[in-house]
Amino acid sequence: MSDTIAAVATAPGRGAVGIVRLSGPQAFSIAERIAGSLPAPRHAALRRFQDAGGAVLDEGLVLAFPAPHSFTGEDVVELQGHGGPVVLDLILRAACRLGARPARPGEFSERAFLNDRMDLAQAEAVADLIDAASAQAARAARRSLDGELSRRVEALAEELIQLRMFVEGALDFSDEDVAWLEDRTLHARLEALLERLRALLHAAAQGRRLREGMTVALAGQPNVGKSTLLNRLSGTDSAIVTEIAGTTRDLLRENIVLDGLPLTVVDTAGLRDSRDPVERIGIERAWKALEQAELVLFLLDDRAGLTAADRELLERLPCGPEVLLLYNKCDLSGRAPERFEAEGRTGLRLAAGADRGLDLLRAEIKRAAGLTDLAESPFSARGRHVEALQRALAYALAARQRIRENAAAELAAEELRLAHRAMGEITGVFSSDDLLGRIFASFCIGK
Ligand code: GDP
Repeated sequence: MSDTIAAVATAPGRGAVGIVRLSGPQAFSIAERIAGSLPAPRHAALRRFQDAGGAVLDEGLVLAFPAPHSFTGEDVVELQGHGGPVVLDLILRAACRLGARPARPGEFSERAFLNDRMDLAQAEAVADLIDAASAQAARAARRSLDGELSRRVEALAEELIQLRMFVEGALDFSDEDVAWLEDRTLHARLEALLERLRALLHAAAQGRRLREGMTVALAGQPNVGKSTLLNRLSGTDSAIVTEIAGTTRDLLRENIVLDGLPLTVVDTAGLRDSRDPVERIGIERAWKALEQAELVLFLLDDRAGLTAADRELLERLPCGPEVLLLYNKCDLSGRAPERFEAEGRTGLRLAAGADRGLDLLRAEIKRAAGLTDLAESPFSARGRHVEALQRALAYALAARQRIRENAAAELAAEELRLAHRAMGEITGVFSSDDLLGRIFASFCIGK
């Protein structure tokens, strides 16, 4: 990392302020050429920004962060100019003409990781915080950025090291007897480790849900109350749903946030046959989403109950997702909201239009998403983390099996080593350049 990188760190477009960020060994000398001189570390000063030829480009604040106390761990300078794309581009070009090169997406974060300013899970949390689709997801990402996930992973990795040392130590005496396999502390510690690993996996799976959300399909005959329900569910939360990837709207899909859980709702009412080619593409995409849906909310009129037409429609739904039968308009049938078993499925009686029984539905959706104790889900996580934890758990279970079978200590030790390695992939202790490249490439430029 001998070169100096530069990028516009603020969002593209117009804004009151825009920031060009420099990081690397030449960051200070390049910034000095642009701004004349640098203020004391971490103090802002007003400067004129000039290009190499001396032409004034802008005027703004300069901030210098000497290594290692900076985001990347290198010398970092921020030039805060006016937030117009042309002005910022001129400053960036000036920096590049003076020896910097344009940063790749995520390169600042990658440098922070390589310089041990943060581990991999924390670097990912930076991107997740930026991409958060709900206040809860943002809070969870913030906690991961603070190291909540990393600390729990590291504590478990430490325990795995202890266990490995214990088992590997026993290897030296293995010709004498297998008494170590019966050691009660070993068994107790392994059980405790498995327990903690399962708890972490559960919390990580919840954290992943908050980040990635769930696809829910709405189905039912016309007029049973699908749009009414959708409007109720989206409530005020949907107002904060932004235009970021995965939260776009189209005719057939809508993104809402339910108590912090991002939901993509597919309306099957829109899935009709169409001749219009553009509409057909949309419909095809909606069918795909429907097939991937994890939950179907099937609405029917509580006054009529499940009719033959309802059964016919139910049969057309993909068989994968769980189906909740929602007996809507219970205000008209005169029955109270409740949860019950119906047709071998979960049924809920409610009145979307009269705002009754919706708390039951929200709880049921969260249950289907695996969000049982959201208050205790303290951090955000990615699929990659969940998958690594699943592998670590499988190896730890295999180690227990080896020990139970009184198998050779080498085999148990090897399983524990693999479990340890899987944990290390989360924080980036063990990770291939390939994986790092893929992770950081998905970040935005300037981050
Ligand atoms: P969709 O065709 O399935 O999307 O149904 P809509 O949401 O458009 O609802 C059809 C009609 O039923 C509208 O007039 C709604 O106001 C009404 N409706 C929906 N839910 C309820 C409810 O729980 N109680 C009552 N009384 N009316 C409802």
